Amino acid sequence: MPDFPWQVQHNFFSPNKISFGLGAACNVGPESLLLGGKKILVVTDPGIVKAGILEPIRESFQSSGVPYLLFDRVEPEPPSRVVDEGAAYGRSEMCNLVVGIGGGSSLDAAKGISAMMANEGSILDVCGPERIPKPGVPLILMPTTSGTGSEATRALVITDFTDPRAPRKNTAVSSFLLPDVAIVDPLLTLSVPARITADTGIDALAHAMEAFTSATATPFSDILAEKAIGWIGRYLPVAWAKGSNLEARYFMSLSSTLAGMAFASGGLGAAHALAHTLGAEYHLAHGPSISAILLAVMKYNLFGNPLKYARVAALLGKNTTNVSDFQAAETAVDAIRELLESLKIPHTLGDYAVPKTDIPKLVQGTMRESRFFALNPRDISEQDLFEIYESAF
Ligand code: NAD
Repeated sequence: MPDFPWQVQHNFFSPNKISFGLGAACNVGPESLLLGGKKILVVTDPGIVKAGILEPIRESFQSSGVPYLLFDRVEPEPPSRVVDEGAAYGRSEMCNLVVGIGGGSSLDAAKGISAMMANEGSILDVCGPERIPKPGVPLILMPTTSGTGSEATRALVITDFTDPRAPRKNTAVSSFLLPDVAIVDPLLTLSVPARITADTGIDALAHAMEAFTSATATPFSDILAEKAIGWIGRYLPVAWAKGSNLEARYFMSLSSTLAGMAFASGGLGAAHALAHTLGAEYHLAHGPSISAILLAVMKYNLFGNPLKYARVAALLGKNTTNVSDFQAAETAVDAIRELLESLKIPHTLGDYAVPKTDIPKLVQGTMRESRFFALNPRDISEQDLFEIYESAF
């Protein structure tokens, strides 16, 4: 029996074009010209500038004769203010194309800036599903981490400080947030430090696993997710241990984009609902927020789709023969725990100094992220959330 709901129709979303491979960053100038770029707004964060990653991009713009301006004020887990400021700057300078380069924070900011350069108001006005009225200015996205897959998704995540006492992650989802071109060059990830390689790699793995086990998985998302899970299991430890290993960086870049494409169509699950709450509450980066709760959410979810979790275990190298489906599924949790431990990633809430007394507040915060629950393989109530948070300590 197929593992996805074959009786229903499926939508598949992806960037219009993906330029992938070693050295693909040099294509940014010609791709900008093809999209009619006359003055480019390059959106990034100070860490990317400091790491010297912009050099091949500058050279490509120069040899294509395309003028560009730099907006390098993106902050981690970007506040909505950054998007609004960037859009105002791009409009005032009459830029007509946005290039986002960096990790998920810079790519999400670039998505929002492209959208809000062509629409009225603040990015906060268009958060939610399909609320962006008009397409943004043309958009090229260039990931420099192998994690979020943002270059291939319809989503952006910003931090909403409307109530400064209760900041929350807010998401806009729209087909207008897919880039015209994603340029994925594994060479851009060579400088990612080991810690960020590990954290972002676990994020990519969580995307692939959540899309694969989601209640809205599709044949398209399954095919992409399976490849991503297998390659991440094999190559993440190598990329972490030896950042200059080109083969490992290549397959991590490929896998994070595939995982992004998988969840753009197949959806995510409860791990992201909990991670968004932790990220906003403690200013914890997205990767560590995922690692802190992933095992607890998996253990809870196994019952909802043991066959899919058993497949995850097999893809991660576990022997799943001669045991029941559920026993095989349980070894998926073991595989992830072993991976987290070997990458030295803290993976309990206690490791991140979250006080147990905060559980009621975290549960309330997660209830506001309940849009993820319908996609989760197992139904979740408020009481269940208490239990999941308890087991994450
Ligand atoms: P990030 O973009 O915040 O980057 C983390 C750090 O790594 C930054 O300091 C950055 O300067 C540095 N860095 C990035 N690339 C580097 C490189 N090649 N060399 C050296 N340093 C480098 O982290 P992230 O995990 O990539 O993105 C997290 C953000 O993405 C969060 O806001 C999260 O909510 C969002 N996200 C979005 C989606 C989506 O579909 N849009 C999906 C998942 C997560």
